Amino acid sequence: MKPSDSQTYPNLPLSKEINLIQSKTLLTRASGYLKEVCSHSLNPYSGCGYGLSSCGEGCYVRFNHWLTRGREWGKFVDVKVNASDLYLQSAQRGKNWAHQRSIPFTIFMSSATDPWQPAEKKYRVTRAVLQAMTTCPPDTLILQTHSASILDDQKLLLELSRLCSLRIHISIEGDRNRLPGLPPPPCSIEKRISALEQLSAQGLKTVACLSPLYPLENPQRFFERLKNAGASAVIIDHFIEGDGTAEGSRTLKTRLPLAMSQVQEDSVRLPYRDHIVNIARNYLPVGVSAQGFAGHYTQPCRPQKNS
Ligand code: SF4
Repeated sequence: MKPSDSQTYPNLPLSKEINLIQSKTLLTRASGYLKEVCSHSLNPYSGCGYGLSSCGEGCYVRFNHWLTRGREWGKFVDVKVNASDLYLQSAQRGKNWAHQRSIPFTIFMSSATDPWQPAEKKYRVTRAVLQAMTTCPPDTLILQTHSASILDDQKLLLELSRLCSLRIHISIEGDRNRLPGLPPPPCSIEKRISALEQLSAQGLKTVACLSPLYPLENPQRFFERLKNAGASAVIIDHFIEGDGTAEGSRTLKTRLPLAMSQVQEDSVRLPYRDHIVNIARNYLPVGVSAQGFAGHYTQPCRPQKNS
């Protein structure tokens, strides 16, 4: 039996309120920054069982009052038990809508939850939706997770990669497992890099997402490690510009900026992102913010030839 994420971090608090719901809709037409990234987003859960971990601190979804309906972020998960049926009912309509606009039917899964959060081990809603996608695949599927539990679905991912353009984003904000004053991450960096490596070894396209970018201890070593693990690119996204506000004002209300500045003071300012981007370009294709999520990368700098 593989150790679960909560075994890795036994003190990681898990959400208490789990609600099984019949959702009315599943595919949401992209708006805001997501318009650059996809035609539709798909959230198999509402709420996130990782909301009380470090990534939950800066998670911009916690400020979505329409979604939380007054509930504390990380303390509830609504399980959309009918999600795969909804997918099958609405996928062709979504595809037609996208194609009428001459854009690919691109699904981003997920924009407001983690598809492989702890509840997935029990309810397997994400798995059922992926299975449904083998019947009616999107043109492009972007999967995003903080969890090595994505490995549970490797076979299905391989099947989907033959049916559509599949990109797997593994969120790895930096090379430190802990920032001062913040809870542990949902899954250790080692496990997430190992997941990326195992998926890449299967021939799946993986991208490491530094989103939001944390202060890096040794950027050169980190990017070398991601490259050696088989990442096809990295996305670098600072909370400034990356949290849905121009100045990062949502994130500034959380404990994340203080934790980051305690480690490295300039990491809370945008030039730090640009500095890290310049280093990353020596190793891998780099996408910055929404452009990166959309799959637009600049190629790595070529090493200088000796004259
Ligand atoms: S896993 Fe994603 S959706 Fe869940 S709390 Fe972390 S950042 Fe937010």
